[in-house]
Amino acid sequence: MDLDRHDFEVDELVERLKAEDTRLVALQIPEGLKIQALELMDRIEEKSAAKVVLAADPCYGACDLVHHKMKMMGVEMVAHMGHSQMNIDSGMPTHFIPVTYDGEPELEPVMEILVGHREMASQRLSDSMSEDSDITEEDAQDKFLDAVGRVAPLNGSKLGLVGSIQHLHLLPSYKEKLENSGFDVCIPTGGARLSFPGQVLGCNYSGDDDDIGHYLFLGSGDFHPIGLVLHTGKPLAILDPYTTEAREMSLEFIERILRQRFGLITMSQEAKSFGILIGEKPGQMRRSLALRMKRMLESHGRKGYLLALEHVGPELIDFYPVDAFVNTACPRIAIDDSVKYAKPLITPYELEVALGEKKWEEGYQFDEIP
Ligand code: SF4
Repeated sequence: MDLDRHDFEVDELVERLKAEDTRLVALQIPEGLKIQALELMDRIEEKSAAKVVLAADPCYGACDLVHHKMKMMGVEMVAHMGHSQMNIDSGMPTHFIPVTYDGEPELEPVMEILVGHREMASQRLSDSMSEDSDITEEDAQDKFLDAVGRVAPLNGSKLGLVGSIQHLHLLPSYKEKLENSGFDVCIPTGGARLSFPGQVLGCNYSGDDDDIGHYLFLGSGDFHPIGLVLHTGKPLAILDPYTTEAREMSLEFIERILRQRFGLITMSQEAKSFGILIGEKPGQMRRSLALRMKRMLESHGRKGYLLALEHVGPELIDFYPVDAFVNTACPRIAIDDSVKYAKPLITPYELEVALGEKKWEEGYQFDEIP
């Protein structure tokens, strides 16, 4: 990754620091960009009268605001980089910087994948509209299932164009190019946790719509693609602006994740006692959900202990004498990291399946934070 090609918008930040006569500013930077933190601190201190403190704890999202701690330190403003504002009150002046990347890869390498996915979406749509009265319920299940096992409620086969925040500026021009190539393109607008059209987070894909039959994601890594397919069940192509490579999220990969999730649910069915994790980070705190999980466990004759943590990690919970954990903090901890834990670590939906409150056969439900 060429870090010099990111726009940290230092001049705009400096302007605001001067205008508000800020003397102490904190920087909060995601892990992948922290390598540039000291250089940024130098640049800000050279150009303004402000002193800069780096909030050096791990940061993975705008859910993780450090404001109360920074306030205690006398910080007057936080510059939060690489994420956008979500529906939580930061409690002090905050300057969000998306950190745009200037790479603009050709669409050509991804075209063949998109054409195949459009075909899949159209087929699924026409199957679901088929009036074949001879079809059995079992056939219908086989025929119309999406990637996570739901009977797909599709109304269209549009291409949903989404990306991670560093690449969202590309979406309007890519939409035009894709439309010129014959695709019916939609840039979905999500709920209050998202700031921009086409934006996706690891815990929120609320822009998904029944009109969208398949997706193109602009970004790198598997983090967002895994969540997007687990949430929507729809075919997903990926174009990486850092490497310019195109690929797809394979169904085999998603099936492997689902098999692992089902294994953990099965193990949790035998569990008598659970640790219920509550995230202390402002945008991850789901107290009501955690209390609902506790009541549900009790109604099934199981024990649930509420454990509040800022960071969740195996070394912080493995030693508790419980049989399993249910996580109400960042949904991706259970999905992406469960192999690191000695005991089953499952999502609230997965606990409902383990206790027989929901049925696995009706399709996987991704744990979304609205
Ligand atoms: S809750 Fe998790 S997935 Fe959602 S923004 Fe925070 S770190 Fe990302």
